[in-house]
Amino acid sequence: MGDYQVSEKIREKFEQLIAMDEVQKALRFIEEDVPRSIDEQKKLTLIEAPTFYEDERAAAYCDYLRDLGLEDVHVDEYKNAIGLWRGTGNGPKIMIEAHLDTVFPKGSVKEIREENGVLYAPGIVDDTRGLAILLSALRGLKESRLKTAGDIYFVGTAREEGMGALGGMEDFLNAHPELDGTVSVDGAWTEGITYEATGIQTFAVNFYGIGGHAYGAFGKMANPLHAAARAVAKIADFQVPDNPRTTFCVSNFHAGNDAGIHAIVPKATIKFNFRSNSEEELMKLKDRIFTAIQEACDEETARWGKDTITWDSEQFCDIHAGNQDIHAPIVEATYLAACYTSEDPGKVYFAQGGSVNGNRSVAKGIPAVTLGGGHVDTKCHTLDELYPMEGSFRSPQEVLLMALLTAGVDGKIESVLR
Ligand SMILES: [Zn+2]
Repeated sequence: MGDYQVSEKIREKFEQLIAMDEVQKALRFIEEDVPRSIDEQKKLTLIEAPTFYEDERAAAYCDYLRDLGLEDVHVDEYKNAIGLWRGTGNGPKIMIEAHLDTVFPKGSVKEIREENGVLYAPGIVDDTRGLAILLSALRGLKESRLKTAGDIYFVGTAREEGMGALGGMEDFLNAHPELDGTVSVDGAWTEGITYEATGIQTFAVNFYGIGGHAYGAFGKMANPLHAAARAVAKIADFQVPDNPRTTFCVSNFHAGNDAGIHAIVPKATIKFNFRSNSEEELMKLKDRIFTAIQEACDEETARWGKDTITWDSEQFCDIHAGNQDIHAPIVEATYLAACYTSEDPGKVYFAQGGSVNGNRSVAKGIPAVTLGGGHVDTKCHTLDELYPMEGSFRSPQEVLLMALLTAGVDGKIESVLR
């Protein structure tokens, strides 16, 4: 990212910030805080939290937030664990969050294995490390004795993954329309910065017909499975733009059963998801897919001239796309914080969208970044998930800098959002 230029104004604030003794002291403190941070990460990993079942971990996270002296610590009605860091009241309202849930069913985490400086356990990184990063950053913030101008909500959010569809974040944002900016931590590293919101739409579509004997009813009726196959074939041939990145995938195709192996099925179902970093492309693609589905039904019906194939749909995931300028102040500030805390600033990069909680903010026009991406493959979402502990102080340092840059330091540094 050598050609990325940061504006003078943001750079000045950043230089001012890192020149402060209190900030340097806090950064050093976070280096010494590693053993404690790793210990918290392990303890939280052992409290399993599949999406929709975050209660126990949310309660435990609240205990940590309470011990750190945050105000109004509680689990909200959406299962988000929340604590408020009170500023002096002269700055913007900020949320810093990591998600509580993991993609593994209960019983997946038996132990945490440690070998050659690497921790192994399902969920050890995504996003349990994010939760631990917030706590360490918060301790650094306390240690600095600096007062932020703005208030900061530190939140462990529920229902980020899979069918949760960034739900806890969406609910929190709707309950807090006063927010001026959000910083999400999803992952363990300092290099990857996500600032665009990839929209995702996930649907199931059912195709219906009469159904009958494969031989006896042949020619007397249309076949909903054939209609579904026609639809999939049409979708498979779609061309979509690389930029803004736009994708589609039929992920599930189901009809019939073995007992009915010689039957024309009465129903076939496909599931698919499609994504784009542009809301316009997302909606265009939605239109094309549903047009293809209608055409497929019409063609299958016309093929036999009998029985009308009908369809209905159910939506599982409805996340809208959003654009944010790559030179928005929060993005520029993040770039500087990432370069400063990274072991190798040359590795700092902007991710091409993604399905992360920050999407929910960007789609609402709230300045937002998601941190945590990096060059290390941690095998997230697999049972072999791993976390190399080397340099684990870097992300909490980055989050500390982002807290101060976004909330502002009272009387000393104005928020980059102002
Ligand atoms: Zn995650």
